Amino acid sequence: MSEIIASAKKITKIYKNHKVLDNVDIVIKSKQIHGLIGRNGAGKTTIMKILSGLVFPTQGELELFSKQEKDLNAVLKQVEILIEHPGLFLEMSAYENLKAKCLSVGCFSKQYVYDLLKLVGIKLSDSKKTIKNFSLGMKQRLGIAIALVGKPKLLILDEPMNGLDPQGFREISDTLVKLNKEKNITILISSHILEKLADIATYFTIIDDGKVIASFSKKELNEKLGETLELTVNDSQKASEVLEKNYKNIQIEIISNNILHVKLENINKEDVLMKLSEMQIKVQHYYQKDISLEEYFLKLTSVEAKNA
Ligand code: ADP
Repeated sequence: MSEIIASAKKITKIYKNHKVLDNVDIVIKSKQIHGLIGRNGAGKTTIMKILSGLVFPTQGELELFSKQEKDLNAVLKQVEILIEHPGLFLEMSAYENLKAKCLSVGCFSKQYVYDLLKLVGIKLSDSKKTIKNFSLGMKQRLGIAIALVGKPKLLILDEPMNGLDPQGFREISDTLVKLNKEKNITILISSHILEKLADIATYFTIIDDGKVIASFSKKELNEKLGETLELTVNDSQKASEVLEKNYKNIQIEIISNNILHVKLENINKEDVLMKLSEMQIKVQHYYQKDISLEEYFLKLTSVEAKNA
């Protein structure tokens, strides 16, 4: 069973007169790769900093590894945060960068450094080169290795995928999944690249204007997928007219002469197919099209959703 390792209850953060977080509740359970999603300025970094003890909330309760306020110092070393790009010594090698961190924490051994490099996929042959010529993806993985030095149980990564090329995405994603699966490290990660986040995250919290507006598991997200039925018919205009006549509030988008999309919000697939067949409209092909995390996010944060 997964335990709660971090929980923030009714957290509010006010900077001068600006309410940056407003009654935020967030629960992070062990083994999650927890994706934190929101536009720029939504409050993601602030909540991450609060969870890692870098910033104090104005109001609210924070619990980490079952410890509250006055006992938090004892558990804060189990949390590591990496905000965007790691601070690295560019003239030093990957090995030396890691060694420096290990020495500062008091846990240096060659083997330990090699193990960490291996864990994040930095080859031995690269580990002795100065890192100034490393790709951004390699630097990010080195940053993650450095964050792992104190053996944190919760790794907080703020936009670690910014600026990466496709290869870099793949490497970071693989590294994070490996850390999560093989080393049982719980990860809280923000990224505006939702397609990539959707691939790896097991749980999602959406934050908008300092408020949590939704939180759901990957399984719950998957249940929302398939909300659109794509139909291939002889005449999409005619099919659309038939459906609109029979179902009030049905949402249809005509994509081409032959293809239309039907939102399966207030209607199920079987009813649509049956009605079209009754009206002698031949459906050549149909499938339930996935909505992406991005589409879902935009829907939840749209002006209409906020005014609903
Ligand atoms: P996100 O990570 O979602 O982009 P942030 O948490 O960085 O959002 O910022 C949320 C809001 O808080 C922004 O409007 C930002 O300008 C403001 N903010 C963040 N840190 C400070 C600070 N130290 N002082 C004043 N305002 C801040």
